[in-house]
Amino acid sequence: MSTKHRFLLDPNIRLTDFASSFLVCCPRCQRCAHVIPEFDRTREIVSPYFTKRVKFLCTYCGAVKEKSSCTQMWVGGATDWYFRFPLYLQMPSCGHVLWALNFEHLQYLEEYVQSALREQTITYNKSLVSRIPIWMKSAKNRKEVLRCIHKLRERC
Ligand SMILES: [Zn+2]
Repeated sequence: MSTKHRFLLDPNIRLTDFASSFLVCCPRCQRCAHVIPEFDRTREIVSPYFTKRVKFLCTYCGAVKEKSSCTQMWVGGATDWYFRFPLYLQMPSCGHVLWALNFEHLQYLEEYVQSALREQTITYNKSLVSRIPIWMKSAKNRKEVLRCIHKLRERC
C-alpha cells in the first residue's frame, strides 16, 4: 500500500481535520481569500468546535474581518463555517454542488474518487469518506466529478 492510499483509507479523518483554513470568495472583490480559525489549545480536545477567534483576510483587496465569539457555526455546506462566505472551491457537478474547504480537502476528494475508479471493492466506513455524498461516490458520476475537481484545482 502506498502512503497515499493509507491516507485515503485512514478511518480517523473527518471533515473537521480539514477545517484549519478555508478558501472563500472575498465579498468585496470576489477573489480567493482566507478564513483562518484559531482553535482553543487549552482544551483537552482541540477542535473547530472550540474556536477562540476567527480571521478573514483577502490578500488581493486587503479586506479584513475578525470574530471573537464563535458560538455559532455552519458546518457542511458550500460556505465557511464562521462568516458563511461562499467557498472559493465550488462548482456545479452532476446536478449537485461540489465543494471543498481548501486544497488539502480537494486533494482528499480527488484521491478518493480516483481510487474508487481503480478499485471497486474497497469498503469504506465512518470518517469523512462515508460522509462523501452518495452522488460523488456513484460510479456513473466519478469521471465528471474528477473533471470538476481538476478544474477547481486550477483556480488559484
Ligand atoms: Zn478581496
